[in-house]
Amino acid sequence: MNGRPDIAETKSCGDCGLCCKLIGVQAIDKPQFVWCKAYRKGAGCTVYDDRPADCRAFICYWLHVPNLGDEWRPDRAGFVMHIADGGARLNIEVDPGKPQAWRQEPFLSAFRAWAAQGRARGLTLWVWIGRRALEITPDGEIDRGMLRPAAHTRRDSNKRLS
Ligand code: SF4
Ligand code: SF4
Repeated sequence: MNGRPDIAETKSCGDCGLCCKLIGVQAIDKPQFVWCKAYRKGAGCTVYDDRPADCRAFICYWLHVPNLGDEWRPDRAGFVMHIADGGARLNIEVDPGKPQAWRQEPFLSAFRAWAAQGRARGLTLWVWIGRRALEITPDGEIDRGMLRPAAHTRRDSNKRLS
């Protein structure tokens, strides 16, 4: 988090840290939606040099895509995005405290446009609200049901912090 340059070069995590709440880390038995015990507001990861491999490798979509502006920073938007399923799916992990955040603009219109653009290539967008998954389509959404177990710690994408 705080301070290291990233692939988009003009972006940094700043005070965000939302992935340290919304993403599960099996190696340290950290469930989804619970702040990591190693995270300190304002200081970031307190075990940064020794953080788990999954944390090192996690790729935050906002951080790596230059044309997503500040309103998309995860702590401001209310969700963390990451690529999953070998690049075939964009996961949108919603903060349980802001379950409707992804429906706000400019997000929803962008998601619908991305869904339309990705359709021909078999790319999908899934919103995760707790255990429930919704697939975003160009003109609506499909409820995929409660797909995750209650105590979900699995990562289907690696984690990277800067
Ligand atoms: S990697 Fe993304 S979600 Fe995690 S702290 Fe940085 S900006 Fe926030
Ligand atoms: S980077 Fe990993 S170990 Fe460090 S605070 Fe975040 S979740 Fe915890």
